[in-house]
Amino acid sequence: MAETLFSKIINREIPADIVHEDELCLAFKDVNPQAPVHLLIIPKKQIATINDIEPEDREVVGHLFLVASKLAKDMGFDDDGYRVVMNCNEQAGQTVFHIHLHLLAGKPLGWPPYTDRQKQA
Ligand code: 5GP
Repeated sequence: MAETLFSKIINREIPADIVHEDELCLAFKDVNPQAPVHLLIIPKKQIATINDIEPEDREVVGHLFLVASKLAKDMGFDDDGYRVVMNCNEQAGQTVFHIHLHLLAGKPLGWPPYTDRQKQA
């Protein structure tokens, strides 16, 4: 599988503001934050999209959520609330083909994630 931007961050070939690392995953600040807190939590194993997750990946994918919850507690926004999102393919807005959980917090987050104009279309 071709190297992605995120493999380069894992391999320290390009810089990132890393907030957590363990044997299975890495978490770092999104370069274009959409909320006061916007972290990306990625597996070290390269998996392109949600469609490519295999049964043997269940531990690593579950681990991403445990790390999201730990970071929320450590950073003190677990009670206020936060959102985790994983986009899959073009219509969902996936741009980097190495799965990643977006962890967003620090302000009230709108829901649902589509605009009135899209609703009417
Ligand atoms: P996606 O659109 O695939 O769900 O999310 C990709 C995310 O990666 C975007 O939120 C984008 O801002 C972030 N991103 C893209 N390039 C870089 C980079 O070089 N460094 C960091 N830290 N984040 C990046």
